[in-house]
Amino acid sequence: MSNKKGSLSINSENIFPIIKKWLYSDHDIFLRELVSNACDAITKLRKLDMIGEFEEPEDNHYRVDVKVSPENKTIKVIDNGLGMTADEVEEYINQIAFSGAEDFLAKYKDKTNEDQIIGHFGLGFYSAFMVADKVTIQTLSYKEDAVPVYWECDGGTEFSMSDGERTERGTEITLYLGEDSVEFANEFRVREILNKYCSFMPEEIYFTNEDVKEEETEEKEEKPEEPKPINDTVPLWAKHPNECTEEEYKEFYRKVFMDFKEPLFWIHLNMDYPFNLKGILYFPKINYEYESIEGTIKLYNNQVFIADNIKEVIPEFLLLLKGVIDCPDLPLNVSRSALQNDGFVKKISDYITKKVADKLAGLCKTEKESYEKYWDDISPFIKFGCLKDEKFNKKMKDYILFKNLEKKYITLPEYLEAAKDKNENKVFYVTDEVVQSQYINMFKEQGMDAVYLTQNIDSAFITHLEQANQEVKFLRIDADVADTLTEEANEEEMKSMSETLGDIFKKALSKENLTIKVERLKNEGVSAMITLSEESRRMQEMMKMYNMGQDMDPAMFGMEGGETLILNANNRLVQYVIDQPEGEHTELICQHLYDLAQLSNRPLDAESMTKFIARSNEILGLLI
Ligand code: ADP
Ligand code: MG
Repeated sequence: MSNKKGSLSINSENIFPIIKKWLYSDHDIFLRELVSNACDAITKLRKLDMIGEFEEPEDNHYRVDVKVSPENKTIKVIDNGLGMTADEVEEYINQIAFSGAEDFLAKYKDKTNEDQIIGHFGLGFYSAFMVADKVTIQTLSYKEDAVPVYWECDGGTEFSMSDGERTERGTEITLYLGEDSVEFANEFRVREILNKYCSFMPEEIYFTNEDVKEEETEEKEEKPEEPKPINDTVPLWAKHPNECTEEEYKEFYRKVFMDFKEPLFWIHLNMDYPFNLKGILYFPKINYEYESIEGTIKLYNNQVFIADNIKEVIPEFLLLLKGVIDCPDLPLNVSRSALQNDGFVKKISDYITKKVADKLAGLCKTEKESYEKYWDDISPFIKFGCLKDEKFNKKMKDYILFKNLEKKYITLPEYLEAAKDKNENKVFYVTDEVVQSQYINMFKEQGMDAVYLTQNIDSAFITHLEQANQEVKFLRIDADVADTLTEEANEEEMKSMSETLGDIFKKALSKENLTIKVERLKNEGVSAMITLSEESRRMQEMMKMYNMGQDMDPAMFGMEGGETLILNANNRLVQYVIDQPEGEHTELICQHLYDLAQLSNRPLDAESMTKFIARSNEILGLLI
């Protein structure tokens, strides 16, 4: 071949500075593009072999080599795939690839960062110029009598082509890294990028540092270790679920997510119709020390890593899980906003949701015991899914469990049925076992049940359940004195007692706004308790959540303070106050009863605590 020079048919003066600038944040994808091209070249040759157009030599071993030389600041990607003839380089590199890059830029150069295309697909070979000042290709086609080709381009719009030097079938691409990309002339950096993008590519990939000389290994007596590919060419998700063992699933999880806590269980997705989708979703064990759960779903396209947590494809609530999804049919060379509105992508996302719901429902039906065992860990995730996704909610609503006071798992209908005669349609719940223990004990004494709802998501979930079951009302166990806890009492008498005691307590506590109510509690041992109406508490929680002033008066929002001091007329201390409004110890008792009631509701503030301790000492003093 005579030497050839040419101009790349590109309108823009110089495409490369734009490529560099535009893709600023994700420069490392160049390696994914080159290595996946190398894998493609091998896969294509395997196909030619299958249809009889090529015969694989006896001693052939297909492989991709990535070599870095920190000294020369080069990265090479070498494959023994099908190679290219001069005509093919002309067609695929000079024309097609360039027009591909041009298209790409025309479409996306004006887009903002938020509107990135997924994983920057579409740039292909030319992404090399994001990091290289000069790129060369040495290639030899598999075709009989093929002549090797050399191609070179220094990042302008000019390229040159001539006869090449390659003697073996395949392609060697060399990147001469530019000044601002020397970070890639580093063994660890390159290995890191390979691990990120190429861990599951379908052909064996070997990585070496060219500057580490061979003799160094020979000096050692023992035989140098057999080099191993950096990737797993048949990832677990690509296998049929029947062929995978439990240990393999666990090991895959450890390796991919670097999480050494065992996952609870997993769902292996495997379908060919109506679209191709494979993947494994793991339910991680939740670490309660952390407030929020954070998962990772890795998205692949034919075993090539695209990106983590692409929320356009994966339902938002599934992003709490850990997993991998490989979907070759995904349209990736479109912008994210286009993906969002894509009917096909929506179908994929719906399918994943459906599969997850089916699996969970199935587990609940056939392996109730495991389901209950996992419940505490998986419930935040399921609840989040129900809140976020109506279809998921519909499928899961009968499989929502509640842990009751006996620590048994029951469903909402089961709870309502049991509470029917006592407190119809009221669901009492506990958010803090320690702080609310007094109430819990009273409930137990009266054969009443409540459920534990202790997770962050529960307050939103309660609202959701109330909307779905209009007649049902959720009440925190200290929101009100449940009917079952009180005895029948003379209303008139209670009213007048409330007035009398109200005056005494307000005076003793110097609290004019205190709301006081007298009840006859079945448990005589309880003197006083504080209830905070469900509405007021929810309002306060909401204000806190939105960071509105904590000392803001809820009355501003048309609510009363909502706190009521309940005094038990059956208790002998309360009786004492009624009998001796002017008694020697009346004031002391009032103050102390109020603090005790507060204590079983929330921690005392500093000033109250100081007074409480001093008063406790004073009371003990009365005993001697
Ligand atoms: P794509 O991979 O999407 O086709 P690229 O820009 O990555 O686009 O590559 C353009 C073309 O260049 C490929 O389709 C292929 O024909 C050719 N090519 C690139 N790298 C190689 C290689 N290592 N061996 C053989 N052909 C290659
Ligand atoms: Mg490519």
